Amino acid sequence: MRILLAEDDQMLSNGVTMALSQNGYLVDHVKSGSAADSALTQTPYDAVILDLGLPDMDGLEVLTRLRQRGQATPVVILTAREAVPDRVNGLDLGANDYMTKPFHLDELEARIRAVLRKDSWSNQTEVRYGDFVYDTVGRRLYVRGEPVDLSAREVAVLELLLQRINKVVNKQQLTEHLSSWESSISFNAIEIIVHRLRKKLLGSGCNLRTIRGLGYILEPPQ
Ligand code: CA
Repeated sequence: MRILLAEDDQMLSNGVTMALSQNGYLVDHVKSGSAADSALTQTPYDAVILDLGLPDMDGLEVLTRLRQRGQATPVVILTAREAVPDRVNGLDLGANDYMTKPFHLDELEARIRAVLRKDSWSNQTEVRYGDFVYDTVGRRLYVRGEPVDLSAREVAVLELLLQRINKVVNKQQLTEHLSSWESSISFNAIEIIVHRLRKKLLGSGCNLRTIRGLGYILEPPQ
């Protein structure tokens, strides 16, 4: 899961980035509204954490432009503006949630999880195909009732494949999903992750198939 953090307070940004990274999210950080706007036109993010008081373009303007482009990326507004009209305005412009500063990192993470779940899993708390069960809240895989250890990258690949089950996902899409500005991932690395993940799915009934020249497809049991 790749998240854009638009926030000009460096200390706060460091804290949020560290907390989210520890939980397996990839975070790209920008400090101005125009940088957020251009990042959002270039990269398919899974969610945006958006400060409103940003240099050179207000956060509400960033949000307006995002929705005008028809992008449905979930947005959590993070701001010191706590007046009711500000909240109403933010939500009316298409924000999915709104948090006022100061806040607890745990609560921000929970809200991010909630908007991601709503967006990706239509609010399901688990995805079940016979012996394959994926807990979308705890982000844990169970095969025949047994928990399976997955790395953060394996989780990211599995989630993308699950969200597009029975559809081909190409290496470029996986690369964009698994890279941040600070760490980009190669096609080779993707192949290794998929190889490991395929082994871990043995016995689940779900088949992770390579479509030569196109990408990968996750097929549920017949
Ligand atoms: Ca600010």
